[in-house]
Amino acid sequence: MYAEVVIDINSKEVDRPFTYRIPEELQERAITGALVSVPFGRANKLRQGYILGLRREAPEGMEPERIKEIDSVVERGFSVEEQMRKLALLMRERYGGTLYQALSVVLPNKLQVKPKRERYFEFTGSEETLNALLSEAERKKHYAKQRLLQAFSESRVLPGSIVTDRLNISAATIKSLTGAGVLTIRSEEAGDDLKSLAEEIGRRKKEGRKTLNEEQQIAVDGILQESRTVSVLFGITGSGKTEVYLELIDRVLQEGKEAIVLIPEIALTYQTVMRFYERFGDLVSVVHSRLSKGDKCERFLKAERGEIRVMIGPRSALFTPFQHPGLIIVDEFHEPSYISEQVPKYDTVETAEMRASLSGAKLVLGSATPTVDAYYRAQKGEVALFRLTHRAVSGAALPKVQVVDMREELQAGNRSMFSGVLKEKIRDRLDRKEQVMLFLNRRGYSGAVSCRSCGEPLNCPHCSVAMKMHRSGRLHCHICGYEADMPKACPHCGSGLLGAFGTGTEKVEEMVKSCFPDARVLRMDADTTGGKDGHREILEKFLHREADILVGTQMIVKGHDFPDVTLVGVLAADLSLNVPDYRASERTFQLLLQAEGRAGRASHPGECIVQTYLPEHYAVQAAAEHDFYAFYRQEMIFRRQMTYPPCGFFTAFTLSGADQGKTEETMLRIFNEAKTRASVPVRFLGPTEMSIYKVKDMYRQVLYFKTRTTKDLFEIKRLLEKLSEALIGKERLFISFER
Ligand code: ADP
Ligand code: ZN
Ligand code: ZN
Repeated sequence: MYAEVVIDINSKEVDRPFTYRIPEELQERAITGALVSVPFGRANKLRQGYILGLRREAPEGMEPERIKEIDSVVERGFSVEEQMRKLALLMRERYGGTLYQALSVVLPNKLQVKPKRERYFEFTGSEETLNALLSEAERKKHYAKQRLLQAFSESRVLPGSIVTDRLNISAATIKSLTGAGVLTIRSEEAGDDLKSLAEEIGRRKKEGRKTLNEEQQIAVDGILQESRTVSVLFGITGSGKTEVYLELIDRVLQEGKEAIVLIPEIALTYQTVMRFYERFGDLVSVVHSRLSKGDKCERFLKAERGEIRVMIGPRSALFTPFQHPGLIIVDEFHEPSYISEQVPKYDTVETAEMRASLSGAKLVLGSATPTVDAYYRAQKGEVALFRLTHRAVSGAALPKVQVVDMREELQAGNRSMFSGVLKEKIRDRLDRKEQVMLFLNRRGYSGAVSCRSCGEPLNCPHCSVAMKMHRSGRLHCHICGYEADMPKACPHCGSGLLGAFGTGTEKVEEMVKSCFPDARVLRMDADTTGGKDGHREILEKFLHREADILVGTQMIVKGHDFPDVTLVGVLAADLSLNVPDYRASERTFQLLLQAEGRAGRASHPGECIVQTYLPEHYAVQAAAEHDFYAFYRQEMIFRRQMTYPPCGFFTAFTLSGADQGKTEETMLRIFNEAKTRASVPVRFLGPTEMSIYKVKDMYRQVLYFKTRTTKDLFEIKRLLEKLSEALIGKERLFISFER
């Protein structure tokens, strides 16, 4: 075995890992994270360093005989907290922001004040005791005690707020009763969502454990034996990736280690969590955004104490303070929601790799549509790749996809949003009592209010976006939360014709209703899912066949299993191609493939109609053929030509400030200096305003830059940081880096 060791020297030249051989007798203690003593430099002076990772074989091009040996293990591994602090340092270096911001993401328990939990006071003595104490308090004129006991005679359990605030009972009084052994104080029970899971499982009949098929077995064994940290699990929809995760977790738990499962928030459904809970019971816990801070904190503490050993959740579950995480799984790792929207704008997948390396855990990235980046790394051998090529349930085949050229439809005089063939197929499914999903490929900034007379949007006074109409009729900014009454007249032209423009999906819904009056239609988009469980409710209704057609945005294509859906219509495949992002084609390909995956999951064969104005675009073509490789080949040509990742490094440097002029001027100065001072090859794009140029009264400028290597990238980052420091001076301007 060999170890990658970072030497503890504050010098840029040696700020990379070195390979050392692990002698037999140190094998047990020289684990990832261990502090070791190693011979370094020509004189082989002993230096200390941390083991970043282990490897079975010597790196290519290094003669094994010439690799030095680790001298001794100083300390066996660092504590979770040290690991997490190290992670915060790495995150700050990669994503900018302050160390404090990084730490508060990584160690929320340690930094945030634990919110006070509601306490409950319970009188545990008998009726007689209560009466006896009550008369004693009356006799001795202990009025406070009397008030409290009186309250207990009405209700044996009282919330803390009533006892301390309303009844005004002092700590001394409470102590006299707890001392007498008749009063107990307990915290509010956390985890109602978990309890209901446990109950549900009690009611359900157990599905036996599935025997893995050959591909699944190869993946499980392969991942466990793999010496590389990262394994990509590339499995088509329904190929049984989740079963692979379950088996991997099982093995890792048997080794006495813990597992983290990351799932996009939107896919974190009851169905998904249930499968983990069914297998591992109480060892499983979940964190999600609807949880209170206190509950989340509680679950993290339980993880730290080892009371739970599998954590499931979106992004933030990555920071579960397990002592020896052995496995981190990122399901649907291509999802853009894994990139945090708040500073530090970390990429969860990248950060998961950092954490896995620090703690010696395996990282498994699962997807039906791996990212171009990840696949490229797999091809270069940097990460392992495992494939699941067919659906796990026999008989379930991939849907047949038909691409419809909407230009031809238009020429033929069809101006509706449904092509002839889609209309025909919807009719057919309705007659056969099967379900249909209609997917509008558009991100909905829907319901934006504007003037129908002059066309001007009603912008938030603090952000450069149009406000939306709330159900209450008030205007609402979805970025900063600002609310206002609807003005009587347009502030630009005085016209009274102000209104919210309907979303695309709303229009689709109307059209469906008028074309198919007998169909029951549900719509799901940002507007209909407002409530706490809004989106779950809609999905449940559709699952229970309370509707025939579900119309929606991307939300409807994310990993939900509807056995009776046999037709998926994609209404405008190319809309997501028209966004200013180098990953637009990749996103489109992923969305189309996901949409197709919704059709025919059970034994019914499924069909998918893809309507588009760009039928010859390779993303559309490849998606129709379910051909990731065809897409990848074409996309790589484009990325190579443009030096976009993975063929180059692309980063956004942003500057924001309250004064628009100052921000612009400073950005320009930084840019001009950077251009002349850059000592490595770099291409700058911009500077320019960000697409939403004003957020919460801060004006935002962006400068993109592309480099060929990470080394150059860091060089430019350092240069920009240095220049900002010098040029910003006392101005209140803020910088950050984004991918
Ligand atoms: P994915 O996560 O890749 O979309 P799932 O793990 O949800 O796929 O599996 C799809 C379906 O196939 C599920 O209903 C699952 O129970 C079933 N399945 C998975 N693996 C097996 C297996 N080895 N034997 C039988 N059924 C399986
Ligand atoms: Zn107007
Ligand atoms: Zn706003």
